Amino acid sequence: MNIGVLALQGAFAEHLAALRKLGANGVEIRQRADFHAGLDGIILPGGESTVMGKLLRELELYAPIRDAIAAGMPVLSTCAGLILLAERAENNEKTYFALMDITVRRNAYGRQLGSFRTTTDIAGIGPYPMVFIRAPFISSVGPKAHVLATVDGHVVAARQQNMLATAFHPELTDDLRVHSYFINMIAQVNANCCQQQTA
Ligand code: GLN
Repeated sequence: MNIGVLALQGAFAEHLAALRKLGANGVEIRQRADFHAGLDGIILPGGESTVMGKLLRELELYAPIRDAIAAGMPVLSTCAGLILLAERAENNEKTYFALMDITVRRNAYGRQLGSFRTTTDIAGIGPYPMVFIRAPFISSVGPKAHVLATVDGHVVAARQQNMLATAFHPELTDDLRVHSYFINMIAQVNANCCQQQTA
């Protein structure tokens, strides 16, 4: 299984390490040529959404990645990556791929002191250690998406078909269950694809 990891900026190395531990092949996406047809899914890491948004445009990666996700490519997005996926953002903040039926609040826990850890249930996974770093949260979830986890009444993980988004950083813990969940999502998509092809 080949999984692209957007590697323009931010916490991409930790996602690549998590994939390696699970036996999946992580492919660094640094330029247009890296985003090729052989990829089964993509990870949008944490970092700085404004910087990643700008680089995506400059490197002409924006349209191909958006089109692939819109066409059903599985995506795991964490923290800034979640901001890239959201259809709506509070306080007139910019939106980017705008594909997931959620509203995001950037830097929702305060800009400097907004880093913390907590353990909370994720639907389908169970209690999970969550690391938040100047994190957003999802302030509302539209009918196409559903909530997977909340912390203090705020949504911190959600799913919409091929899209999985977390406000926290699963790649910064030793717990690989979010990445395993994502690999299972990809396996299901591949199984559906190939059943159709052979039918
Ligand atoms: N505060 C960052 C942003 O708004 C996200 C922080 C992170 O990814 N850890 O893009």
